[in-house]
Amino acid sequence: MKKSMIYLDKENNKNSIDLLEVIRQIYGEEGSEIYGVAINHQCLETIGYVDNLIQITDDKIFDKDAMVITDILEELQQKYDFDCILIPATNFGRMLAPRLAMRLHVGLVADVTAIHLKDELLEMVRPAFSGKIMAGIVKQGKGPTMMSVRENVFSYDQILPKETQKIMYIPKHLRKSQLKLIDKREKVQSYDIRDSEVLISGGGGTIKNFEKLEALASQLNGQVSASRKIIDKGIATRSIQVGQSGRTVNPKLYIALGINGAIQHVEGLKNVEHIISVNTNKNAPICSLSDLVVEGDAFEFIDKLLAKIKNNDFRR
Ligand SMILES: Cc1cc2nc3c(=O)[nH]c(=O)nc-3n(C[C@H](O)[C@H](O)[C@H](O)COP(=O)(O)OP(=O)(O)OC[C@H]3O[C@@H](n4cnc5c(N)ncnc54)[C@H](O)[C@@H]3O)c2cc1C
Repeated sequence: MKKSMIYLDKENNKNSIDLLEVIRQIYGEEGSEIYGVAINHQCLETIGYVDNLIQITDDKIFDKDAMVITDILEELQQKYDFDCILIPATNFGRMLAPRLAMRLHVGLVADVTAIHLKDELLEMVRPAFSGKIMAGIVKQGKGPTMMSVRENVFSYDQILPKETQKIMYIPKHLRKSQLKLIDKREKVQSYDIRDSEVLISGGGGTIKNFEKLEALASQLNGQVSASRKIIDKGIATRSIQVGQSGRTVNPKLYIALGINGAIQHVEGLKNVEHIISVNTNKNAPICSLSDLVVEGDAFEFIDKLLAKIKNNDFRR
Protein backbone atom coordinates (compact mmCIF):
# COMPACT_ATOMS: atom_id res chain seq x y z
CA MET A 1 0.00 0.00 0.00
CA LYS A 2 1.31 3.45 -0.95
CA LYS A 3 1.47 6.31 1.53
CA SER A 4 0.45 9.85 0.64
CA MET A 5 0.74 13.03 2.63
CA ILE A 6 -1.32 16.19 2.27
CA TYR A 7 -0.20 19.37 3.97
CA LEU A 8 -3.41 20.83 5.41
CA ASP A 9 -3.26 24.54 4.91
CA LYS A 10 -4.61 26.40 7.92
CA GLU A 11 -6.20 29.07 5.77
CA ASN A 12 -7.96 26.83 3.29
CA ASN A 13 -8.95 23.46 4.72
CA LYS A 14 -11.60 22.86 2.04
CA ASN A 15 -8.99 23.15 -0.67
CA SER A 16 -6.64 20.76 1.12
CA ILE A 17 -9.38 18.12 1.29
CA ASP A 18 -9.90 18.44 -2.47
CA LEU A 19 -6.32 17.23 -2.92
CA LEU A 20 -7.66 13.78 -2.03
CA GLU A 21 -8.98 13.71 -5.59
CA VAL A 22 -5.39 13.85 -6.88
CA ILE A 23 -4.50 10.84 -4.75
CA ARG A 24 -7.64 9.02 -5.93
CA GLN A 25 -6.71 9.65 -9.56
CA ILE A 26 -3.16 8.35 -9.01
CA TYR A 27 -3.69 5.37 -6.73
CA GLY A 28 -7.44 4.70 -6.87
CA GLU A 29 -9.89 4.85 -3.95
CA GLU A 30 -8.12 2.21 -1.84
CA GLY A 31 -4.58 2.26 -3.15
CA SER A 32 -3.00 4.67 -0.70
CA GLU A 33 -2.96 5.29 3.02
CA ILE A 34 -3.55 9.00 3.43
CA TYR A 35 -1.93 11.19 6.06
CA GLY A 36 -3.09 14.75 6.62
CA VAL A 37 -0.68 17.04 8.44
CA ALA A 38 -2.15 19.92 10.47
CA ILE A 39 0.23 22.26 12.24
CA ASN A 40 -1.19 24.43 15.01
CA HIS A 41 -4.78 23.78 14.00
CA GLN A 42 -7.14 20.87 14.52
CA CYS A 43 -8.40 20.43 10.95
CA LEU A 44 -11.29 18.31 12.18
CA GLU A 45 -12.93 18.75 8.74
CA THR A 46 -10.64 16.00 7.50
CA ILE A 47 -11.99 13.38 9.90
CA GLY A 48 -13.63 10.68 7.82
CA TYR A 49 -11.54 11.68 4.77
CA VAL A 50 -7.96 10.84 5.70
CA ASP A 51 -6.70 7.62 7.29
CA ASN A 52 -4.39 9.45 9.66
CA LEU A 53 -4.55 13.01 10.90
CA ILE A 54 -1.16 14.07 12.21
CA GLN A 55 -1.67 17.02 14.53
CA ILE A 56 1.30 19.05 15.69
CA THR A 57 0.49 21.72 18.22
CA ASP A 58 3.11 23.83 19.89
CA ASP A 59 3.04 27.56 20.69
CA LYS A 60 6.75 27.70 19.91
CA ILE A 61 6.11 26.80 16.23
CA PHE A 62 5.75 29.91 14.13
CA ASP A 63 3.46 28.50 11.48
CA LYS A 64 4.09 31.31 9.01
CA ASP A 65 7.78 30.43 8.85
CA ALA A 66 8.28 28.16 5.83
CA MET A 67 11.72 27.08 7.06
CA VAL A 68 10.34 25.83 10.38
CA ILE A 69 7.46 23.99 8.68
CA THR A 70 9.89 22.51 6.14
CA ASP A 71 11.93 21.06 9.04
CA ILE A 72 8.82 19.40 10.43
CA LEU A 73 7.69 17.94 7.10
CA GLU A 74 11.19 16.67 6.38
CA GLU A 75 11.17 14.90 9.74
CA LEU A 76 7.78 13.36 8.94
CA GLN A 77 9.06 12.16 5.58
CA GLN A 78 11.98 10.45 7.32
CA LYS A 79 9.59 8.76 9.75
CA TYR A 80 6.79 7.70 7.38
CA ASP A 81 8.52 7.50 3.98
CA PHE A 82 5.61 8.88 1.93
CA ASP A 83 5.37 7.97 -1.77
CA CYS A 84 3.52 11.13 -2.63
CA ILE A 85 3.50 14.60 -1.05
CA LEU A 86 0.85 17.15 -1.96
CA ILE A 87 0.84 20.78 -0.94
CA PRO A 88 -1.93 23.22 -1.91
CA ALA A 89 -0.52 26.02 -4.08
CA THR A 90 -1.62 28.77 -1.71
CA ASN A 91 0.74 31.68 -1.04
CA PHE A 92 2.27 29.79 1.87
CA GLY A 93 2.24 26.46 0.01
CA ARG A 94 4.23 28.05 -2.79
CA MET A 95 6.92 29.03 -0.28
CA LEU A 96 6.89 25.67 1.41
CA ALA A 97 6.87 23.20 -1.49
CA PRO A 98 10.18 24.14 -3.20
CA ARG A 99 11.99 24.27 0.15
CA LEU A 100 10.81 20.79 1.05
CA ALA A 101 11.63 19.41 -2.41
CA MET A 102 15.17 20.75 -2.10
CA ARG A 103 15.62 19.17 1.32
CA LEU A 104 14.37 15.81 0.06
CA HIS A 105 16.44 16.06 -3.15
CA VAL A 106 13.41 15.43 -5.34
CA GLY A 107 11.86 17.34 -8.18
CA LEU A 108 8.75 19.42 -7.59
CA VAL A 109 5.98 19.97 -10.09
CA ALA A 110 4.49 23.28 -9.01
CA ASP A 111 0.97 24.56 -9.64
CA VAL A 112 -0.42 21.33 -11.06
CA THR A 113 -3.79 21.71 -12.80
CA ALA A 114 -4.35 18.17 -14.12
CA ILE A 115 -2.87 14.71 -13.97
CA HIS A 116 -2.95 11.84 -16.45
CA LEU A 117 -2.10 8.25 -15.79
CA LYS A 118 -1.12 6.26 -18.86
CA ASP A 119 0.20 2.71 -18.50
CA GLU A 120 1.18 3.47 -14.90
CA LEU A 121 3.14 6.52 -16.03
CA LEU A 122 2.05 9.60 -14.12
CA GLU A 123 2.02 12.85 -16.09
CA MET A 124 1.56 16.05 -14.09
CA VAL A 125 0.30 19.03 -16.05
CA ARG A 126 1.01 22.67 -15.24
CA PRO A 127 0.95 26.00 -17.10
CA ALA A 128 4.39 27.06 -18.37
CA PHE A 129 5.90 30.09 -20.13
CA SER A 130 3.43 32.49 -18.46
CA GLY A 131 0.58 30.19 -19.33
CA LYS A 132 1.30 30.05 -23.08
CA ILE A 133 1.60 26.26 -22.99
CA MET A 134 0.49 23.45 -20.72
CA ALA A 135 3.50 21.28 -19.85
CA GLY A 136 3.17 17.58 -19.06
CA ILE A 137 5.88 16.49 -16.64
CA VAL A 138 6.93 12.96 -15.71
CA LYS A 139 8.90 12.14 -12.57
CA GLN A 140 12.25 10.43 -12.83
CA GLY A 141 14.46 8.99 -10.13
CA LYS A 142 13.86 7.94 -6.56
CA GLY A 143 12.01 9.66 -3.75
CA PRO A 144 8.44 10.79 -3.33
CA THR A 145 6.34 12.34 -6.08
CA MET A 146 5.97 15.96 -5.04
CA MET A 147 3.57 18.54 -6.33
CA SER A 148 1.89 21.73 -5.33
CA VAL A 149 -1.66 21.76 -6.63
CA ARG A 150 -3.53 24.79 -7.86
CA GLU A 151 -6.56 25.77 -5.80
CA ASN A 152 -10.10 24.95 -6.95
CA VAL A 153 -9.02 22.72 -9.81
CA PHE A 154 -9.71 19.34 -8.22
CA SER A 155 -12.82 18.54 -6.27
CA TYR A 156 -13.28 15.48 -4.08
CA ASP A 157 -16.60 13.76 -3.51
CA GLN A 158 -16.21 11.34 -0.69
CA ILE A 159 -17.37 7.84 -1.48
CA LEU A 160 -17.23 6.07 1.91
CA PRO A 161 -16.30 7.74 5.20
CA LYS A 162 -13.04 6.48 6.66
CA GLU A 163 -12.02 5.82 10.20
CA THR A 164 -9.46 8.50 10.91
CA GLN A 165 -6.72 7.84 13.38
CA LYS A 166 -5.44 10.94 15.18
CA ILE A 167 -1.70 11.08 15.73
CA MET A 168 -0.36 13.72 18.09
CA TYR A 169 3.18 14.22 16.85
CA ILE A 170 5.95 16.07 18.69
CA PRO A 171 8.79 17.15 16.39
CA LYS A 172 12.20 16.03 17.59
CA HIS A 173 14.04 19.10 16.37
CA LEU A 174 12.37 22.49 16.51
CA ARG A 175 14.33 25.36 15.01
CA LYS A 176 13.82 28.77 16.58
CA SER A 177 12.20 31.00 14.01
CA GLN A 178 14.25 33.88 12.64
CA LEU A 179 11.04 35.72 11.82
CA LYS A 180 8.99 37.98 14.02
CA LEU A 181 5.39 38.95 13.32
CA ILE A 182 5.21 42.71 13.72
CA ASP A 183 1.82 43.47 12.22
CA LYS A 184 -1.21 41.63 10.87
CA ARG A 185 -3.75 43.20 8.52
CA GLU A 186 -6.96 41.90 7.10
CA LYS A 187 -7.11 41.56 3.32
CA VAL A 188 -8.79 44.63 1.83
CA GLN A 189 -10.53 42.59 -0.87
CA SER A 190 -14.14 42.17 0.13
CA TYR A 191 -14.90 38.89 -1.64
CA ASP A 192 -13.18 36.00 -3.30
CA ILE A 193 -14.68 34.84 -6.62
CA ARG A 194 -13.55 31.30 -5.77
CA ASP A 195 -16.12 31.17 -2.94
CA SER A 196 -19.10 32.25 -5.07
CA GLU A 197 -21.87 29.89 -6.14
CA VAL A 198 -23.06 32.33 -8.79
CA LEU A 199 -20.69 34.40 -10.92
CA ILE A 200 -21.80 37.11 -13.33
CA SER A 201 -18.78 37.47 -15.54
CA GLY A 202 -18.13 40.22 -18.06
CA GLY A 203 -15.79 40.34 -21.02
CA GLY A 204 -14.95 42.55 -23.98
CA GLY A 205 -18.64 42.87 -24.84
CA THR A 206 -19.36 44.63 -21.53
CA ILE A 207 -16.61 47.26 -21.58
CA LYS A 208 -19.11 50.09 -22.17
CA ASN A 209 -20.91 49.60 -18.86
CA PHE A 210 -19.24 46.89 -16.80
CA GLU A 211 -20.71 48.29 -13.54
CA LYS A 212 -24.12 47.19 -14.72
CA LEU A 213 -23.21 43.56 -13.94
CA GLU A 214 -23.28 44.39 -10.23
CA ALA A 215 -27.07 44.83 -10.24
CA LEU A 216 -27.64 41.36 -11.67
CA ALA A 217 -25.06 39.79 -9.34
CA SER A 218 -26.77 41.33 -6.37
CA GLN A 219 -30.23 40.06 -7.44
CA LEU A 220 -28.90 36.53 -7.95
CA ASN A 221 -26.88 36.48 -4.69
CA GLY A 222 -23.71 36.22 -6.73
CA GLN A 223 -20.49 38.12 -7.38
CA VAL A 224 -19.00 39.82 -10.40
CA SER A 225 -15.99 38.36 -12.20
CA ALA A 226 -14.32 39.20 -15.49
CA SER A 227 -12.19 38.11 -18.39
CA ARG A 228 -8.68 39.50 -18.75
CA LYS A 229 -9.87 41.99 -21.35
CA ILE A 230 -11.67 43.91 -18.59
CA ILE A 231 -8.67 43.79 -16.27
CA ASP A 232 -6.22 44.91 -18.96
CA LYS A 233 -8.47 47.88 -19.70
CA GLY A 234 -8.17 48.87 -16.02
CA ILE A 235 -11.92 48.49 -15.46
CA ALA A 236 -11.68 45.93 -12.62
CA THR A 237 -9.02 44.54 -10.29
CA ARG A 238 -7.01 41.43 -11.13
CA SER A 239 -8.45 39.61 -8.11
CA ILE A 240 -11.69 39.01 -10.06
CA GLN A 241 -10.05 37.74 -13.26
CA VAL A 242 -11.06 34.22 -14.26
CA GLY A 243 -8.64 32.07 -16.21
CA GLN A 244 -5.20 30.70 -16.53
CA SER A 245 -3.41 33.81 -15.31
CA GLY A 246 -6.32 34.66 -13.02
CA ARG A 247 -8.38 32.41 -10.77
CA THR A 248 -9.91 29.00 -11.25
CA VAL A 249 -13.53 29.13 -10.14
CA ASN A 250 -16.18 26.51 -9.40
CA PRO A 251 -19.58 28.17 -9.08
CA LYS A 252 -22.86 26.36 -9.66
CA LEU A 253 -23.78 28.99 -12.25
CA TYR A 254 -21.45 31.05 -14.45
CA ILE A 255 -23.12 33.68 -16.62
CA ALA A 256 -20.63 34.76 -19.29
CA LEU A 257 -21.64 38.12 -20.71
CA GLY A 258 -19.77 39.21 -23.83
CA ILE A 259 -16.93 36.73 -23.27
CA ASN A 260 -15.51 35.02 -26.32
CA GLY A 261 -14.09 31.92 -24.57
CA ALA A 262 -10.36 32.01 -25.30
CA ILE A 263 -8.54 28.89 -24.13
CA GLN A 264 -6.84 30.88 -21.35
CA HIS A 265 -10.24 31.97 -20.02
CA VAL A 266 -11.82 28.54 -20.25
CA GLU A 267 -8.86 27.10 -18.26
CA GLY A 268 -10.37 28.80 -15.21
CA LEU A 269 -13.79 27.17 -15.67
CA LYS A 270 -12.91 23.52 -15.16
CA ASN A 271 -15.36 22.78 -12.35
CA VAL A 272 -18.25 25.07 -13.20
CA GLU A 273 -21.60 23.23 -13.01
CA HIS A 274 -23.63 25.32 -15.49
CA ILE A 275 -22.65 28.01 -17.97
CA ILE A 276 -25.05 30.45 -19.59
CA SER A 277 -23.46 32.62 -22.24
CA VAL A 278 -24.84 35.77 -23.74
CA ASN A 279 -23.10 36.81 -26.91
CA THR A 280 -23.90 38.71 -30.08
CA ASN A 281 -22.03 35.95 -31.92
CA LYS A 282 -23.60 32.55 -31.37
CA ASN A 283 -20.49 30.90 -32.78
CA ALA A 284 -18.15 32.32 -30.11
CA PRO A 285 -16.13 29.41 -28.62
CA ILE A 286 -17.70 29.77 -25.16
CA CYS A 287 -21.12 28.97 -26.64
CA SER A 288 -20.09 25.41 -27.44
CA LEU A 289 -19.30 24.86 -23.73
CA SER A 290 -22.51 26.40 -22.46
CA ASP A 291 -25.68 24.78 -21.21
CA LEU A 292 -27.65 27.71 -22.56
CA VAL A 293 -26.74 30.29 -25.19
CA VAL A 294 -28.54 33.60 -25.53
CA GLU A 295 -27.75 35.27 -28.82
CA GLY A 296 -27.91 39.00 -28.27
CA ASP A 297 -26.70 42.03 -26.44
CA ALA A 298 -25.38 41.55 -22.89
CA PHE A 299 -26.91 44.76 -21.51
CA GLU A 300 -30.31 44.03 -23.03
CA PHE A 301 -30.14 40.60 -21.38
CA ILE A 302 -29.35 42.17 -17.98
CA ASP A 303 -32.24 44.66 -18.30
CA LYS A 304 -34.73 42.00 -19.34
CA LEU A 305 -33.68 39.53 -16.65
CA LEU A 306 -33.78 42.22 -13.94
CA ALA A 307 -37.26 43.22 -15.08
CA LYS A 308 -38.40 39.60 -14.95
CA ILE A 309 -36.96 39.16 -11.46
CA LYS A 310 -38.63 42.37 -10.32
CA ASN A 311 -42.01 41.29 -11.71
CA ASN A 312 -41.49 37.68 -10.70
CA ASP A 313 -42.38 36.82 -14.29
CA PHE A 314 -40.91 33.45 -15.18
CA ARG A 315 -43.73 32.07 -17.31
CA ARG A 316 -42.65 30.66 -20.64
C1 LIG B 1 -0.41 34.06 -21.48
C2 LIG B 1 -1.84 34.50 -21.55
C3 LIG B 1 -2.63 34.34 -20.42
C4 LIG B 1 -3.97 34.75 -20.47
N1 LIG B 1 -4.74 34.58 -19.37
C5 LIG B 1 -6.06 34.91 -19.43
C6 LIG B 1 -6.91 34.70 -18.32
O1 LIG B 1 -6.50 34.25 -17.24
N2 LIG B 1 -8.21 35.04 -18.44
C7 LIG B 1 -8.75 35.57 -19.59
O2 LIG B 1 -9.95 35.85 -19.62
N3 LIG B 1 -7.94 35.78 -20.65
C8 LIG B 1 -6.63 35.51 -20.59
N4 LIG B 1 -5.83 35.75 -21.67
C9 LIG B 1 -6.40 36.54 -22.78
C10 LIG B 1 -7.24 35.72 -23.74
O3 LIG B 1 -6.40 35.14 -24.71
C11 LIG B 1 -8.28 36.61 -24.44
O4 LIG B 1 -7.63 37.68 -25.08
C12 LIG B 1 -9.34 37.19 -23.51
O5 LIG B 1 -9.89 36.17 -22.71
C13 LIG B 1 -10.45 37.84 -24.34
O6 LIG B 1 -11.43 38.33 -23.49
P1 LIG B 1 -12.94 38.42 -23.93
O7 LIG B 1 -13.42 37.12 -24.47
O8 LIG B 1 -13.69 38.99 -22.80
O9 LIG B 1 -12.91 39.58 -25.04
P2 LIG B 1 -13.02 39.52 -26.62
O10 LIG B 1 -12.07 38.59 -27.22
O11 LIG B 1 -12.98 40.94 -27.03
O12 LIG B 1 -14.47 38.95 -26.88
C14 LIG B 1 -15.64 39.68 -26.69
C15 LIG B 1 -16.83 38.79 -26.94
O13 LIG B 1 -18.01 39.52 -26.63
C16 LIG B 1 -18.94 39.43 -27.71
N5 LIG B 1 -19.67 40.69 -27.70
C17 LIG B 1 -19.28 41.90 -28.19
N6 LIG B 1 -20.22 42.84 -27.91
C18 LIG B 1 -21.19 42.20 -27.22
C19 LIG B 1 -22.41 42.64 -26.64
N7 LIG B 1 -22.81 43.91 -26.69
N8 LIG B 1 -23.17 41.72 -26.02
C20 LIG B 1 -22.80 40.41 -25.95
N9 LIG B 1 -21.67 39.96 -26.50
C21 LIG B 1 -20.86 40.85 -27.10
C22 LIG B 1 -18.10 39.17 -28.93
O14 LIG B 1 -18.85 38.46 -29.90
C23 LIG B 1 -16.96 38.32 -28.37
O15 LIG B 1 -17.33 36.96 -28.38
C24 LIG B 1 -4.50 35.34 -21.65
C25 LIG B 1 -3.69 35.47 -22.78
C26 LIG B 1 -2.38 35.07 -22.73
C27 LIG B 1 -1.52 35.22 -23.95
